[in-house]
Amino acid sequence: MQDRQSITDNLARVQEEIESRAREVSRLASDVTLCAVSKTFPADTIRRAIAAEQRVFGENRVQEAERKWPELKAECDDIELHLIGPLQTNKVRKAVSLFDVIQTVDRERLARALAKEMATADRSLPCFVQVNTGEEPQKAGIPPAETKAFVDLCRNDLELDIVGLMCIPPHGEEPSPHFALLQDMATRFGLPRLSMGMSADYSIAVQFGATVVRVGSAIFGARATAMAAVE
Ligand SMILES: *Cc1c(COP(=O)(O)O)cnc(C)c1O
Repeated sequence: MQDRQSITDNLARVQEEIESRAREVSRLASDVTLCAVSKTFPADTIRRAIAAEQRVFGENRVQEAERKWPELKAECDDIELHLIGPLQTNKVRKAVSLFDVIQTVDRERLARALAKEMATADRSLPCFVQVNTGEEPQKAGIPPAETKAFVDLCRNDLELDIVGLMCIPPHGEEPSPHFALLQDMATRFGLPRLSMGMSADYSIAVQFGATVVRVGSAIFGARATAMAAVE
């Protein structure tokens, strides 16, 4: 568990790294949003990051987010909460009411359920389409070759507010080709935002045009794996 000072220091260090990498490739650091991934960490730990001015957070499970975030959001009114994990259609209603951005639109059935719920709730959230850049059978996401058609369906038929693409490169592989592929697709499809890069590779992601980096352990410390498994 990280104390308040180290979370503050970690946030500053990650932010500085984003700034220096952005400068190297002539990008503005202000075009890169740091999404602090707080999954498995308790509300009190998250409060330390909020006290250090962090406002954008990511959670990967609806149920866990429901236990922590209504209260945290009541305490701080400019939090932006991103869903970065798989969403089951039976949790769409809860997800749309609690989250501010959905990064993991990864199949037609989910896209349809989200469109319906956003219309009902009159709450149109910015969404990312998750792309399975490594075409891994066990991983969520749309295969690259099908992404254009899926983005068109989401935007034109379902009227979802698709703002960008998101990917999680295969574990243990060099991430750059995956980041480059995602960047190229976003440019071709006219999508302004790219969510890519985690603690181990967010610097590289910034060089490849990431506009959102999802950083957990570099800010909050190592996650207890046993807890992560049950969650
Ligand atoms: C957990 C998680 C992260 C953060 O991972 P770290 O390696 O701790 O930075 C980023 N993206 C997704 C989708 C995650 O589930």
